[in-house]
Amino acid sequence: MPETPQDVLKLIQDQDIKIIDLKFIDMPGIWQHCSFYYNQIDESSFTDGVPFDGSSIRGWKAINESDMCMVPDPKTAWIDPFMQEKTLSMICSIKEPRTGEWYSRDPRTIAQKAIDFLSSTGLGDTVFIGPEAEFFVFDDVRFDQTESKAFYYVDSIEGRWNSGREEMGGNLGYKPRYKEGYFPVAPTDTMQDMRTEMLLTMAECGVPIEKHHHEVATGGQNELGFRFATLVEAADYLMTYKYVIKNVAKKYGKTVTFMPKPLFNDNGSGMHTHQSIWKDGQPLFWGDGYANLSKMALNYIGGILKHAPALLALTNPTTNSYKRLVPGFEAPVNLAYSQGNRSASIRIPLSGTNPKAKRLEFRCPDATCNPYLAFAAMVCAGIDGIKNEIDPGEPLDVDIYDLSPEELSKIPSTPGSLEDALESLEKDHGFLTSTGVFTEDFIENWISYKLDNEVNPMRLRPHPYEFSLYYDV
Ligand code: GLN
Ligand code: MG
Ligand code: MG
Ligand code: MG
Repeated sequence: MPETPQDVLKLIQDQDIKIIDLKFIDMPGIWQHCSFYYNQIDESSFTDGVPFDGSSIRGWKAINESDMCMVPDPKTAWIDPFMQEKTLSMICSIKEPRTGEWYSRDPRTIAQKAIDFLSSTGLGDTVFIGPEAEFFVFDDVRFDQTESKAFYYVDSIEGRWNSGREEMGGNLGYKPRYKEGYFPVAPTDTMQDMRTEMLLTMAECGVPIEKHHHEVATGGQNELGFRFATLVEAADYLMTYKYVIKNVAKKYGKTVTFMPKPLFNDNGSGMHTHQSIWKDGQPLFWGDGYANLSKMALNYIGGILKHAPALLALTNPTTNSYKRLVPGFEAPVNLAYSQGNRSASIRIPLSGTNPKAKRLEFRCPDATCNPYLAFAAMVCAGIDGIKNEIDPGEPLDVDIYDLSPEELSKIPSTPGSLEDALESLEKDHGFLTSTGVFTEDFIENWISYKLDNEVNPMRLRPHPYEFSLYYDV
């Protein structure tokens, strides 16, 4: 894999590459791209960037101040496996052409600033992040563009979204039973070949692959695994992960969704995020506290739990996210931590006696987040916990789902809706902005974007289930 601009330019020449595809992430979290003839890219592209019109990019500039520059990162170069013509892909951060500064609303820039902030505190110099993004594979989706009817037209879930798989009954022959998708062999698992192709294609794109498997839900819920990486790198890998998974599925005549809760009454898709802080090559989360955690790690947990109601506006940023965070589906509903307990928001995985493997798993996030923003925000919350020595309280080593209502009422729970989370973010974002990682402008813009484009449009539309409830009233 190339390291420097010179490596990339040599690769272009050696392999006679004619097309360079530059990709960057918009604010809500989708890759955008523009392809350039190879002679448009030279050494200055890697410092000054390549100009483009940023006015129509969601959440960014107004039309009167639209010029932007994409600056490719040479370490992210790979040959795009889905293009007929040999095409070199690179991931970019965004600069303001007038000032030459990194753009304060660019998510990849924000992620880089989170690492710079950690280093500036002297607490550490590296955060390792390991995201596990789950997803569903469905048959061809025929979207009816007329509003909420789109719900009904996913072949695989037709007739099911209202009833739950369990109630379908009958002999499902070579289909996983309800909540038993994790993980019988073929022919019950019909997606082995597709997942293998996804995994191996990802490796061609430089992602350090580890494994793949079916997940708990019926109807093709899957997960692939790659090795943890540093913050920006892990977000780059996650975007490549989604790109490869969707494009391989398309070859098989399937579509993929990372929506957290596409099926009523079945497991949703999360993006558990493993994290640990290191300094000078040494892991700092190992110690003599609960579950062999250091004080730093416990305070980091304290920071995440304290700021979780606001943090979730970035890690679980869609209206659908909150349909996943309900009891009974291995998704976290309470803001607590525990060793091995999958019903807590933060789990400390059993990792033996190797200090390097000591980490925490934040189980709330889902893959509708913008990973650059989500990772940066989690790290800001954790650092706030360390700096202010926030006590995470007692661990919760019981199954939270089994607690009585009185016991349960003592444990704070995850926000009930995106609106609630945005309201918390409005009140609690000093932990993000005082660091210089996120600007006030970014937070304000994020909240109003989400309210105007997602929360309110959802609220204003009659919901399909309302017809079941109220049509004949
Ligand atoms: N799908 C579950 C979630 O929503 C997680 C299942 C698992 O990986 N254990 O978080
Ligand atoms: Mg997993
Ligand atoms: Mg999983
Ligand atoms: Mg996990």
